[in-house]
Amino acid sequence: MWENLEIELEKASGEQLKEKPAQDSLGFGVHFTDHMFLMKWNRQSGWHDAKICPYHEFRLDPAAMVFHYGQAIFEGLKAYKGDGGQVYLFRPEDNIERMNVSAQRMCMPRLPVAKVFKALKALVYLDRDWIPTIAGATMYIRPTMIAVEPVLGVRPAGEYYFYIIMCPVGAYYPEGFGPTKIYVTDKYVRSVKGGVGHVKTAGNYAASIMAAEEAHRAGYTQVLWLDACERKYVEEVGTSNIFFMINDELVTPPLGGSILPGITRDSVIRLAREWGVNVVERPIAIDEVIAASIQGNLTEAFGTGTAAVISPIGELCYQGRKYVISGGRTGIFAQRMFDELQAIQSGKQEDPFKWITRVG
Ligand SMILES: *Cc1c(COP(=O)(O)O)cnc(C)c1O
Repeated sequence: MWENLEIELEKASGEQLKEKPAQDSLGFGVHFTDHMFLMKWNRQSGWHDAKICPYHEFRLDPAAMVFHYGQAIFEGLKAYKGDGGQVYLFRPEDNIERMNVSAQRMCMPRLPVAKVFKALKALVYLDRDWIPTIAGATMYIRPTMIAVEPVLGVRPAGEYYFYIIMCPVGAYYPEGFGPTKIYVTDKYVRSVKGGVGHVKTAGNYAASIMAAEEAHRAGYTQVLWLDACERKYVEEVGTSNIFFMINDELVTPPLGGSILPGITRDSVIRLAREWGVNVVERPIAIDEVIAASIQGNLTEAFGTGTAAVISPIGELCYQGRKYVISGGRTGIFAQRMFDELQAIQSGKQEDPFKWITRVG
């Protein structure tokens, strides 16, 4: 595992090893593993000082540019443990490639893909005992890049950190895989073409919190976002892509610069096509969704993303009216897709698209 790594390896000493949390109360993103990957960039040396080291805190200058102008990007992927204890990653190179798209848009340095992939596999292997084994629990991996040069001034920073941290996470649905209630906002928007909605940069999420808070106060799980220009076309749901099953056709908004190109979205499209389902990427107006719901042609709606994989929608609230979908239950197609993706991700089922990387 460690040969040809070209990455310094500093293992945590006995007393630095942390106690692992109980598998039945992991929560999401609260416990972090023993090690992390870190490398630094500056104009003179490019990427340097790459190391896997004990998880530790940073000391940053209060003027570090990330705190002021938000040059920060991240990714999210998961490691899964199979029945025989093998460790799998799901489409990890796609995450690294997507991070480079984010880096380019935010004027941050490109990552060396092969080296980061190697570091990622080595880190996951080193902390493999942290991957939960109980049903539905996985290990969430968060690659991050931040601007650390201590200068006030809006321009590309001259120094960056790239790091990877990991956390064991519980089943996303502790009470079982169940539908969510979604609030359609026509008051706030997430993203606009020409902006940064198609990349995973920190400010997008800060800007979305107020709408989510208002939805929570009204008793809803998440916000459904409409396009910023006309507030007419469906874009995403919370931090997930969205799909509708209308008249046996699976419809999802097209990637057009304001939507995050989800890896789960792409996997759902390809699997559904493999199953012979008609998948259409086209603009879909919220009025069309509501009309299909009233006519009984909207049989399912669900969100897709790494964290929850598939998130069925049982109710939409739009302009003060409520529309129940699938009788408020998980749809047949959403359930099948969830089961299939989970089986592929954990190595239980054949992987026809070569999505899985085995670690170690
Ligand atoms: C990360 C993210 C998604 C889902 O992407 P996956 O690659 O499937 O995890 C969708 N929308 C937004 C806004 C996101 O940040």
